[in-house]
Amino acid sequence: MESKLFIDGKWCAPHDGGTLEVINPADERVFHRCAAGTAEDIDAAVAAAKAALAGPWSRTSGHDRAKYLRAIAAKIEEQKQALAEIEVRDNGKPLPEALWDVGDTAYCFNLYATYAEELDGRQGETISLPDDRFQTHMKYMPAGVAGLIVPWNYPLLMAAWKVAPALAAGCAVVLKPSEFTPLSALELARIAAEVGLPGGVLNVVTGYGATAGARLAAHPDVRKLAFTGSVPTGIAVASAAARDVKSVSLELGGKSPIVVFNDADIEQTVEWVMFGIFWNQGQVCSATSRMIVEKGIAPKLIDRLSEEAKKITIGDGMAPGILLGPLVSKNQYEKVLGYIDVGKSEATLVTGGARPSHLNEGYFLEPTIFADVSPNARIWKEEIFGPVLAVSTFQTEAEAVALANDSEFGLAAAVMSGDPARAARVADAFEAGVVWINCSQPTFLEAPWGGIKKSGIGRELGKWGLNNFLEPKQITKYASSDPWGWYLKG
Ligand code: NAD
Repeated sequence: MESKLFIDGKWCAPHDGGTLEVINPADERVFHRCAAGTAEDIDAAVAAAKAALAGPWSRTSGHDRAKYLRAIAAKIEEQKQALAEIEVRDNGKPLPEALWDVGDTAYCFNLYATYAEELDGRQGETISLPDDRFQTHMKYMPAGVAGLIVPWNYPLLMAAWKVAPALAAGCAVVLKPSEFTPLSALELARIAAEVGLPGGVLNVVTGYGATAGARLAAHPDVRKLAFTGSVPTGIAVASAAARDVKSVSLELGGKSPIVVFNDADIEQTVEWVMFGIFWNQGQVCSATSRMIVEKGIAPKLIDRLSEEAKKITIGDGMAPGILLGPLVSKNQYEKVLGYIDVGKSEATLVTGGARPSHLNEGYFLEPTIFADVSPNARIWKEEIFGPVLAVSTFQTEAEAVALANDSEFGLAAAVMSGDPARAARVADAFEAGVVWINCSQPTFLEAPWGGIKKSGIGRELGKWGLNNFLEPKQITKYASSDPWGWYLKG
């Protein structure tokens, strides 16, 4: 099967006829071919988005746009099972997780429909000034043509986090999904067409990062770039954006800590630590991949984690009862295996570290735990983006906080403690954009998402996500007949 690009409301062949192979990571087989869009295709998509912004789309109210967003959400809900199955074949994640992602995607479109309606009420809001001869009111303009570049770990959901607020704001967009997981973005395009979204408002160009992605980041007519992915690519995208002084938001990597005190509930801690590192095969930007545990509770907790990790069912995400699917690609598999080799020389392997013996094809890996990891170890400092937990111990609260914050990343952090005052203190001390107390990973689309340090610039989700795609304009009027005279009189 082969698919095309979605530009100006039409399915188009790529400029040079190039294709990219889509591989099912559970069996390593090519099951689809997508168009590999080129710089010329990106140019066509940006031109279509620009033309859409010059047409009736620019005169839509937030209420008008909300109708499209709600219609998209309804279709996604209706087609939840089919969309989730596409996500499983493309990415490898277990079906229940994919179903959850698709449900959250629909929720995201509905949420931004509400924000789009509220935006109408914000248009014209006044700002109180200290001089009553002047009146200032606000207009919130769409940022313009938005380039949206997304990764492979939550293909549809990451696209929704950007497409929904961008459309709510009134932008027209060009979406570039990951070359590893391009299919659900094309389904989103199909759904947008089915609900009658005007041509050019949502364009989807599948293709490689170095060609299609780089051209989108550098295109002079793109006014807003929203990127999620790795730090090196984020830096390249931000550098390209700087050349045209484009607005840019970056959601990048992480190496998030989970600090566990002796007074934590051990069974709850086991559950949250496991979820925090093994969910989505550990391919989660906010995965709590560094466990910093107080010395007293450490031996028991590591034993319990090891016991539970061995029970995790691994296999094809389409099979019932599977908790851990394959990693997304051969590249990612080899990268994570490489880190496991490094870990074996730096720390103590507690469990896992190899391909499960019952699976001889697919990018499968046992849930892996390393203990005695030093703060200088590569597996402690670098983002692995796989089901690999690194464990270190501490004796004092100050030591725990220092270890947690000793990272170039600052996306997320978690603390497990039975002492609410201590948990609150540690939460305040974390250098991170997202902090969890007595849990890890729950993410609500109403709350801001994003990190500090090398984890990114700006916030997505909630009203922060909408503001990403708006340019505020103040209009200040002199509302007095008195001569102003200040400049002339000195
Ligand atoms: P990646 O940086 O390799 O690719 C991300 C996207 O950028 C893909 O669509 C890719 O094609 C494109 N791209 C690659 N080179 C490009 C270039 N030169 N110019 C423009 N675009 C280019 O990242 P990945 O491997 O797909 O995703 C994993 C990374 O994403 C991890 O580091 C993870 O932490 C991060 N991530 C962060 C968040 C967050 O919210 N902070 C969420 C999910 C993933």
